[in-house]
Amino acid sequence: MSPSASPLPTVARDAARTVASDAAVAVRRPSQGAAADAPAAIAVSIVIPVYNEADNLAELVARIDAAMTPTGRSFELILVDDGSRDDSCRALDELARQHHWLRPLELIRNYGQSTALQAGFDHARGDYVVTLDGDLQNDPVEIPRLLDLLDADPAIDVVSGWRRERQDRTWSRKVPSWLANRLISAVTGVRLHDYGCALKVYRYPIIANLRLYGELHRFIPALAAEAGARIVEEPVLHHPRTRGKSKYGIDRALRVVLDLLWVKFMMRFLHRPVHAFGGVGLALVLVGAALLLDLTFDKLVAGHDIGGRPLLMLGTLLVLVGVQLLATGVVAELLTRVYHEPQGRRQYALRRTATS
Ligand code: UDP
Ligand code: MG
Repeated sequence: MSPSASPLPTVARDAARTVASDAAVAVRRPSQGAAADAPAAIAVSIVIPVYNEADNLAELVARIDAAMTPTGRSFELILVDDGSRDDSCRALDELARQHHWLRPLELIRNYGQSTALQAGFDHARGDYVVTLDGDLQNDPVEIPRLLDLLDADPAIDVVSGWRRERQDRTWSRKVPSWLANRLISAVTGVRLHDYGCALKVYRYPIIANLRLYGELHRFIPALAAEAGARIVEEPVLHHPRTRGKSKYGIDRALRVVLDLLWVKFMMRFLHRPVHAFGGVGLALVLVGAALLLDLTFDKLVAGHDIGGRPLLMLGTLLVLVGVQLLATGVVAELLTRVYHEPQGRRQYALRRTATS
């Protein structure tokens, strides 16, 4: 693998990365750790997950070259081979010999798009990070324009592509995706037309604050907003897939719903799970206790027989389930602390530190 263009000295880079991944100082850019006379940092990292895309790679790399080289920005292209079973890996090595800015990564097996992206993010060194798909459905020609948007407005952290004229099948892709966008926007409160568009540009610190597990790449804007990002959407070109096969079918719909539940929970309750579980638990305990109190009154004061009353069963059940939920809330609170504290992970991120 050939070295990439003018990297930061390792120490400066590592220092910057520690700060960023610490999530304490969210706006610090990798280049800010460099000494004045250090070589310029890489401006842009382009991260693309690749799974069985051998036929697309040469054209992809050529089109990225054509789009990025005239901009004069220093860049690296991180192509993450997600355990491809075709010739992708060999094709990447060959291309890397031709382009010094190409850095292929090879995952040991197929982990899925989110993990492949995360691997790319972990190796990215640019001040800006760009993502897109490796199947040429996103057009690299758009990248400079999206980068210019970030340049022009420091208040924007993420520009998210919007495939306004999406070139996919209507019933199996566009309709489910329209529904998913409405649902995700409503549930997360981060309203976008197109969650599924892989073409996005980020400021580096946003990437440093993201962790993508499972199939969470579809929720990146919501996760980024949770990490404090200010996001705008920008219409982008979209093309039909001409080579290779799509890796997803309609079966993803169910998984999207489950992931959405998890994302919503994380966004709302990660720092105070006792409110999620405890709230429901407390309500159940109160209703159950009221029922049991009423029955006790019936028995002791009115002298009625209560052994066969269905409400006795219901009241007992509500109290029991309620207490269990309360206990789950307390345990979840403890886990939250275990999650944050041992690694010195903070539960907040700063946009700016106070200057003395
Ligand atoms: N991809 C990947 N790992 C996977 C599945 C997909 O890296 O397990 C990559 C794939 O090569 C492509 C991108 O993720 O670059 C999007 O996949 P695809 O085009 O199949 O998705 P679609 O556009 O059909 O939603
Ligand atoms: Mg595609």
